[in-house]
Amino acid sequence: MNGRIQPPGATDSSRRWFERAQTSLAGGISSSARMTSTGPNPYPLYMADGSGARIRDVDGNEYLDYLVSYGSAVLGHANPQLTDALTAVLHTGTMFGTCNTVEVELAELIQAMVPCAELVRFANSGSEAVQGAVRAARGYTGRSKVLKFEGHYHGWSDTLAVSNRPDAAEAGPYAAPHAVPHSPGIPAGVVGDVVVCPWNDPAALRAVLDAHRGEFAAVICEPIVANNACTMPAPGYLSLLREECTARGIILVFDEVCTGFRTGPGGAQALFGVVPDLAVFAKALGGGLPIAAFAGRRDVMEPLAAGRVKHGGTYNASPLCATAALVTLRHLNQPAVTKHIEESGLRIMEAVQRAAHDRRIPCVVQGVGAMFQTVFTADGMPSRQYRDLLRADQARHGAFRHALLGRGVHVNAFGMACWFVSAAVTEDDLDATCEAVEGAFSTL
Ligand code: PMP
Repeated sequence: MNGRIQPPGATDSSRRWFERAQTSLAGGISSSARMTSTGPNPYPLYMADGSGARIRDVDGNEYLDYLVSYGSAVLGHANPQLTDALTAVLHTGTMFGTCNTVEVELAELIQAMVPCAELVRFANSGSEAVQGAVRAARGYTGRSKVLKFEGHYHGWSDTLAVSNRPDAAEAGPYAAPHAVPHSPGIPAGVVGDVVVCPWNDPAALRAVLDAHRGEFAAVICEPIVANNACTMPAPGYLSLLREECTARGIILVFDEVCTGFRTGPGGAQALFGVVPDLAVFAKALGGGLPIAAFAGRRDVMEPLAAGRVKHGGTYNASPLCATAALVTLRHLNQPAVTKHIEESGLRIMEAVQRAAHDRRIPCVVQGVGAMFQTVFTADGMPSRQYRDLLRADQARHGAFRHALLGRGVHVNAFGMACWFVSAAVTEDDLDATCEAVEGAFSTL
């Protein structure tokens, strides 16, 4: 399908499945994100199968996949080594709800790969692991407030589903934003424990920390803000967070759900050389199966280790998911693998920049090769924080994404999300992707 433009009606089976789904599934979907991320409106595509960097929908259309399950299918789809390892587990029992040897090997590998990981705990999703890290920080410090940054996303659970994407009217003053619950149903008491701050602004950070002196258990951030179109940390900003948290006895948590094991074997903390007290992992960790982790400083994890701070989960580190993670991390621990991911992404980023430049379309391509986004801002400047993105031309991003989809390239439909590159991308895939990018820009 690459190189060809999808004819009208090419995705009719997806439309019919979506009509049918609405009579049984709430809203026809299994996650609110499916509607924003996997459009196109008014119906999402139903994927039937995938192999390597390609996926096929129920009408048989093929796409080069840069959603890769929000970065989870980091080795590509149906990776043969992963499939073999998982098949073996299917034959011997997927879950016993007991300790298993794979979780030990996996934790040891994470210790070896991730700078902050002195002790590890497993969970099933990023949201759960964030909850675990926040619980650990609160249990250790005896404090309850958490500082989060406007626009950063840390999962759907009540704890931190605050000011994920407030609109301009509700967001409040720039330097002291309102804490805006992401959804009805989040209790005011929970929201009251979250203090929101603009990203990449040292003065605003110090002011918020000073205003709540002695109250914060944790400061949490996405070191590369995947959920804000891969907004990068300003030079020195992560180090500043580290210094301020150390000086004030606050636990610094890096939410590496998107960056972990993807931006290199040691994630963003290794990339930027700033070691948090705790970090959260999911997505790439499981290679497409549901497993997550939080990990960090021995003394911070100690109350959890001693059983005073509680954390549970029937499915945590099941042999099936722990095996998926072990196979995946053994791949990602080879520098050549993450280098290939990075270089592949850089090639696409360059193709976007070239096409935009040739057609004089103002935009910026930001992030790193492994995860990046095209943002259509009038001045073509990279975003520094969430509110910059409110000024971006989301309709143009939507048109770009739609034109890509019609040319067989599948990316997240949401302009504040990003492209994720898998290790399975080949030279041919990259050529086809760059050609589709060029074609998509010709329509803008
Ligand atoms: N943190 C970040 C940075 C994320 O991007 C996400 C998911 N998009 C989460 C946490 C929550 O992870 P999950 O969807 O697995 O609960």
